[in-house]
Amino acid sequence: MNPIDRSDSHGLHPRGVDQLLDYLPAGVVVHDAASRVVYANRFAYKLLGPTLDAMRTQTALAGTWPFLRTDGSPMPPADYPVTRVLRSGQAVADCVVGVGTVKLDRWLICNAYPVHDAAGELAEVVVCFSDCTELKLAERSLAVSEERLRLALLGSTDASWDWDLPVNHVHYSDRWWDMLGYDAGQERDSGAWRTMMHPNDGERVDAFIAALRDARDTSYSIEFRLRHRDGHYVPILSRGFIQRDAAGKALRISGTNTDLTETKRAESRIYELAYFDYLTGLPNRRLLIEQLGKILTRAARTGQHGALLFIDLDNFKTLNDTLGHDKGDQLLQQVARRLEARVPRRSDTVARHGGDEFVILLEDLSALPEEAASQAELVAEKLIDAFNEPFQLDGHQHHASPSIGVALFDKDIRDIDELLKRADLAMYQAKAAGRHTIRFFDLHMQTVVNARVELEADLRRSLRSHGFTLHYQRQTDSNGQTVGAEALLRWERPSRQDVSPSVFIPLAEETGLILQLGEWVLEAACRQLVAWGSRQETAHLTVAVNVSARQFRQQAFVDQVLQVIARTGADPRRIKLELTESLLLANVDNTIDTMHALKEKGIGFALDDFGTGYSSLAYLKRLPLDQLKIDQSFVRDVLTDPNDAAIARTILGLGHTLGLDVIAEGVETADQRNFLAMHGCRAFQGYLFGRPVTAEQF
Ligand code: C2E
Ligand code: MG
Ligand code: MG
Repeated sequence: MNPIDRSDSHGLHPRGVDQLLDYLPAGVVVHDAASRVVYANRFAYKLLGPTLDAMRTQTALAGTWPFLRTDGSPMPPADYPVTRVLRSGQAVADCVVGVGTVKLDRWLICNAYPVHDAAGELAEVVVCFSDCTELKLAERSLAVSEERLRLALLGSTDASWDWDLPVNHVHYSDRWWDMLGYDAGQERDSGAWRTMMHPNDGERVDAFIAALRDARDTSYSIEFRLRHRDGHYVPILSRGFIQRDAAGKALRISGTNTDLTETKRAESRIYELAYFDYLTGLPNRRLLIEQLGKILTRAARTGQHGALLFIDLDNFKTLNDTLGHDKGDQLLQQVARRLEARVPRRSDTVARHGGDEFVILLEDLSALPEEAASQAELVAEKLIDAFNEPFQLDGHQHHASPSIGVALFDKDIRDIDELLKRADLAMYQAKAAGRHTIRFFDLHMQTVVNARVELEADLRRSLRSHGFTLHYQRQTDSNGQTVGAEALLRWERPSRQDVSPSVFIPLAEETGLILQLGEWVLEAACRQLVAWGSRQETAHLTVAVNVSARQFRQQAFVDQVLQVIARTGADPRRIKLELTESLLLANVDNTIDTMHALKEKGIGFALDDFGTGYSSLAYLKRLPLDQLKIDQSFVRDVLTDPNDAAIARTILGLGHTLGLDVIAEGVETADQRNFLAMHGCRAFQGYLFGRPVTAEQF
């Protein structure tokens, strides 16, 4: 570099070859040893003109150069490249400075070096620079967006990573390592994710990635597990984007890993809540039904039998009522554990069906029905045995027993409800057989049940549509004079054969329909009594009305009877209620009270079917009865069976002793009548005198 001519058009004129410098797309500024500007080429002048003018005489150290540091703060003159060269005598390379007075104008990248004179003294400093503003701005915005990304990822729980496929290098974010329990910043080898993969997931993920490389997709998502530093596996959802070259070859995959631990936990909790019983932890009815569906499908394929065992705890309600629900819960929990222990095969299911009901599903029993049945029976017996030991409920010893219904199934059964119903039915059979036992479902049982269900439905319908009538059967005295009638219920079952009251009355009792039905009978009989009362030849007749136990025991029975009497205007002294012996057995005191209350109003009582039950003579004496009715079973064979004859005679004698009338029912022949009359019977009822007929016929 030559010395500088200071008389050119810019006021700073280069000499000779230095004219070249004016065409250089870079700045060149020459300072003297006092840091004054002695030369600047065109480029430099264009960029820093006014500044250079001002600095022709001033030194850089005076601080007039508005240079900035890369962080934007003012650069102290001591840091100017020229100053540094002057101070150190060493060249300064690639120093970036900003230029601008009020706001930043440009960024320059400067190289400065010393020029020594012949004596070796530092004579000048040449500063060369180029404009790197664009580069700098690009760098800036990159930094800003990177920072933005960094902050975004910091706030996110997801962990980012980036995989450069051609060089097979994976960059992991700190969060990535953090997710697996490693300290931030500890860079691992780029294959880390693969070595940390759960052994069962590796193959699948490898295949997935191999397919990704060749596919056209630009995004993907996959789940796998990675080993945490403490050894457990973290469920991960990996989602990302694939960058491809023009040919579609994958170049890089970038994505984020999401830790699914919480999600999985919530999922399994939801699953638990939906499919398991909170109290016992057993599968609930819903899961049971799902399992059953699958098992039935499998059974259809394999031809094997399966069995559904329906278990109901005996007297559980009593335990709940007497010891409290807390103890009830404890029992259910312990029962669940015992049942599980007795059904150890993994393929078998123990479920809580609800309340005190459990269901056990046995799969893969023999293809032969008999063998399958005995296999199921064996399990059922083991389950019964599970109840041998008493249960400890908070120090309270409790003996519990189960009633178990078993329904076998094979490929022919597809209906889940049907199967459950069968097992349930068998369970009820077990209950009916005295509890604490096992019953198998059989088809005959079902036919009976179906018939009952239909009968009940018809009964209800007829009750609504007044489909009942009363027939009347004569009761006579020893002269053959009609003294009264027994009202007997008749049901014309809609579109079917008539059903005997001995069939539908027990059902009506079981279902409670007897309450309504009984009231109707009483009212109809009373109205008939009133009708008879209005005609002289029938005014003396009494009516006997059958009352069932359930009807008699209802709280409001006395009121009900009195209301019917009041409503119809019937004479209570002409009404006789027929009770059965079984009714007298329970709650004797209440029975006596009820009878007395009605007796006070003039109503009479007959003991129906006498001799078939277990009346105690002690009770009989206490009951305000008017009449004993010798059951027709004794009357039927009174002439042929000496035992029946003896019973009939005994009843007649008993009535005499207790001061009660005795009537014989079911008298069909004159010989029967004569025999009974001979032994003191004064009242008769039976086909000999008349069948039950409608009121008009009567
Ligand atoms: P029950 O009260 O002992 O009635 C006598 C049954 O014997 C009647 O049967 C009657 O038709 C039948 N019978 C009468 N005379 C003869 C005879 O000479 N030979 C034979 N073989 N049978 C005779 P029914 O009407 O079928 O009633 C059966 C049972 O149904 C009754 O036995 C009674 O327990 C019950 N029942 C009938 N009506 C009612 C009612 O309104 N309420 C209640 N709770 N039960 C009723
Ligand atoms: Mg009767
Ligand atoms: Mg009878």
